[in-house]
Amino acid sequence: MRWEAQELKVTDPAALLPLAGLVRSIQTPDFAGVTFHEVVCKSALNRVPAQSAMPFHWTINPTRGCLHRCTYCFARRTHEYLDLDAGQDFDTQIIVKTNVVEVLRRELARPSWQREHVALGTNSDPYMRAEGRYKLMPGIITALADSGTPFSILTKGPLLRRDLPLLVEAATRVPVSVAVSLALIDPDLQQRVEPGTATPKARLELIRAIADAGLECSVLAMPILPWLTDSEDQLDALFGALAGAGASDVTVGALHLRPGAREWFMAWLGREYPALVPRYRRLYGSGSYAPKDYRQWLGERAGRARRKHGFDRRAPRRWARDAASDPAPASAPAAPAAPEPAQLALF
Ligand code: SF4
Repeated sequence: MRWEAQELKVTDPAALLPLAGLVRSIQTPDFAGVTFHEVVCKSALNRVPAQSAMPFHWTINPTRGCLHRCTYCFARRTHEYLDLDAGQDFDTQIIVKTNVVEVLRRELARPSWQREHVALGTNSDPYMRAEGRYKLMPGIITALADSGTPFSILTKGPLLRRDLPLLVEAATRVPVSVAVSLALIDPDLQQRVEPGTATPKARLELIRAIADAGLECSVLAMPILPWLTDSEDQLDALFGALAGAGASDVTVGALHLRPGAREWFMAWLGREYPALVPRYRRLYGSGSYAPKDYRQWLGERAGRARRKHGFDRRAPRRWARDAASDPAPASAPAAPAAPEPAQLALF
């Protein structure tokens, strides 16, 4: 689409998969080891399954797979629906819906569209580095705002700064929520757990930039990793850094280990912290969530850090013209002392 000068011949067998709407598969020296599969999509708005606990009914994912390569990402399994695997393929076989803006505009123009809240950043990060080349988000933001549709964005990508003027303008017309995902502020551990993501410093600067632009920036501090990032000192440092950066609110949650993410994360843990493997096995058993006792303990500990750094005294300001159209909070398997985030993540 936009990389003709750098395009290389694709030899990866995954590129030969029968992806629906596939136009071409490309590799480029800027993204070593990654294949982008450019597809034309038939729909842009995805309805969230009725049984989901998410507080929104619609999502947009302009991409599938994610260059951020978080070991714990529980969107990983969605790649299996494409006959790709939830591990390496999720990190390196990226599907890009190059016509997503055009399709979205058509869907938003339908008389049946009820202008319900739409969440971005649920199965793939919309501001991963490739967005710098594909530039899909400006069209999506504008289309949503033009149609009067409230929306939220969750990201780990500092590239969102590029679109801050658009977001500020959109927020004068529709409710807009922006959240940054940041749970690891030790840069060494962060690079090992989330090797494709921006540093904690860059994400703190992003939070600051969002706040300075006049938008509230909530933070999703998930996942907190048992025995790795859940000490009193670590939570204190995390909340202190987020308060210093100007975050409007923080939601803390313990690691989930759903199928797909579980295998990938436990393999990583075995390589990096083999002594912790039996402890994690005991804590999680065969389930996806840490036990209730652990989550309560973490919630209390996080609650102390919240109070210490003044988050309990912050009154989030809404950009909503019509707050009733914002999604209602839903229960989630997160630490109970923390309030619900503006956008709960699917990962
Ligand atoms: S957790 Fe989010 S940022 Fe990380 S790999 Fe998954 S979709 Fe990407």
